Amino acid sequence: MKIGVLALQGAVSEHIRLLTNSGAEAIEIKRADQLAEVDGLILPGGESTTMRRLIDKYQLFKPLREFGESGKPILGTCAGLILMAKTLSGEQDGHLGFIDMVVERNAFGRQRDSFEATLDVKGIAEKLTAVFIRAPLVKEVGPDVDILSEYNGEIVAVKQGSFLACSFHPELTDDARLHQAFIKMVAERPLLEAH
Ligand code: GLN
Repeated sequence: MKIGVLALQGAVSEHIRLLTNSGAEAIEIKRADQLAEVDGLILPGGESTTMRRLIDKYQLFKPLREFGESGKPILGTCAGLILMAKTLSGEQDGHLGFIDMVVERNAFGRQRDSFEATLDVKGIAEKLTAVFIRAPLVKEVGPDVDILSEYNGEIVAVKQGSFLACSFHPELTDDARLHQAFIKMVAERPLLEAH
């Protein structure tokens, strides 16, 4: 089992480190043909507008859409969550649109640019240290979306089928529980499909 991390921009090596420490093989994805090698994919944090520009530049948009539609699991963190949203508040179009949710970018404002919080993530981890950096918030979710975590009454982690996303950066701590849960999703997918 191999997991890819989209490596156009942002916090890539941190994800690779946690995946590797958790016993998964992890590779950087820079080209569309590399997607065929992996069973799951992480869209890291960074800057979603820059990442989208690079996705288009390297002709990755359609291959990424197809990867997600094939049922292979995708984890999006921070900017990665933004890329996965169907709708972005105040903007005309979403990006990959995998998760039926409305996301507000930079939702904490300048006053709380970055901070840490301790969160429970349903079915994944209790008391997880979450690092928020110019983080987005999930303002609304559709009926098929499972809310996994809230911070001050606002949604910060969700799951819809094979798609998992969080507003914070689980890769900036040494706590690999969220990555381990994702690895499990990737490992179990072939078993689910066999039924
Ligand atoms: N504010 C960034 C954006 O809009 C996300 C920040 C992050 O990934 N840490 O894409």
